[in-house]
Amino acid sequence: MYVQRCIECGREYDPREIAYTCECGGLLEIVYELDMVDTSFVSSGEPLSVWKYSSLLPVEITPVSLKEGGTPLYECEKIGQELGVELYVKHEGMNPTGSFKDRGMTVGVTKAIELGMKVVACASTGNTAASLSIYGAKAGIPAVVLLPHEKVALGKVAQALMHGARVLSVRGNFDDTLALVRELCTSEGFYLLNSINPYRLEGQKTIAYEIADEMGWESPDRIVLPVGNAGNISAIYKGFVELKKLGIIDNVPMMTGIQSEGACPVVDAFERGDEDILPVKEPETVATAIRIGNPVNAKKALNAIRESKGFAERVSDAEILKAQRELAMAEGIGVEPASAASVAGLKKLRELGVIERGERVVCITTGHLLKDPETVLKNAPSPIEVDATIEAVRKVVF
Ligand SMILES: *Cc1c(COP(=O)(O)O)cnc(C)c1O
Ligand SMILES: [Zn+2]
Repeated sequence: MYVQRCIECGREYDPREIAYTCECGGLLEIVYELDMVDTSFVSSGEPLSVWKYSSLLPVEITPVSLKEGGTPLYECEKIGQELGVELYVKHEGMNPTGSFKDRGMTVGVTKAIELGMKVVACASTGNTAASLSIYGAKAGIPAVVLLPHEKVALGKVAQALMHGARVLSVRGNFDDTLALVRELCTSEGFYLLNSINPYRLEGQKTIAYEIADEMGWESPDRIVLPVGNAGNISAIYKGFVELKKLGIIDNVPMMTGIQSEGACPVVDAFERGDEDILPVKEPETVATAIRIGNPVNAKKALNAIRESKGFAERVSDAEILKAQRELAMAEGIGVEPASAASVAGLKKLRELGVIERGERVVCITTGHLLKDPETVLKNAPSPIEVDATIEAVRKVVF
């Protein structure tokens, strides 16, 4: 069994209570009686998926699932060799909607149904909205998504619209939009499915389970991933910690969070040695999925980074776009800009000597290239227009 527990004061809440945060203001997390957990997934040989690990997921009913998780872990020999590390990329862009948000939403929407909620809602830089929309459709529960009216990548808006969510375009940035949806959920009794909801993070922790599983229940030395609202780094850390407590793995990887220079409050706090962030008022970056100035899960993320002896670093938009192109050209992995922040950060931290030669590193690429075609078209060469003759074509090929 499990409870919701405050990470600050330890107060416990019934798993059916819709609280999101503690009365003291602290974030909640789901805590299990680990000695009661069935760990037969360790040797079941079942294919990877979120629900393979259902004994460690807080759900009592048949899941609302579109077969999420089971994403590929690619060995990246070219970039790895160049950087002097053993590099793997866990490509979360291969989920049903093309981002890791599906892992959280399959659990979160299932929980909404279990709790008898009538409407689900979220604020989103795009991917959370796309994901909530498909599970809302599958479950037959209305979904309301609030997007900041600028800077949402095209593919994400298209997904939210096509799958039938009520899509609102809010005149404000993501942080304003999140504050608004929290108020809306309180006043209307909608179920909030942003990453402040601890059930959503439970789904996302399966990234850790899948990595350890695929590596034969060994941990890599380090996980590197982009940090926006800071839920995913917290979730993946929690996943590894649970496996260690269960005696399934020996160590927890160094959790390494990367933010964009224009939106890096977690990195700033890490460098100051503070437990709290100072919000960034006007966050700006090409990596719209992490264009967040006031990450709600910052406290959990800073814990994860410190306790795992990890690190936090910022990268520029130019470094992000360069890493995106390198992943695409050298490894055949197409990711959206935010995802490439992981590899850009790895590169920078190798140069700074924070990441050591020979480390076994897993970068999480959080979203698919097709999410944001506009950024590609802005930065890539145009197609070469030719007449429909063989002479014209031969002139411009190699
Ligand atoms: C949501 C998202 C992130 C940021 O994850 P957080 O949990 O908010 O830190 C990074 N990349 C992509 C593609 C995302 O969709
Ligand atoms: Zn509390």
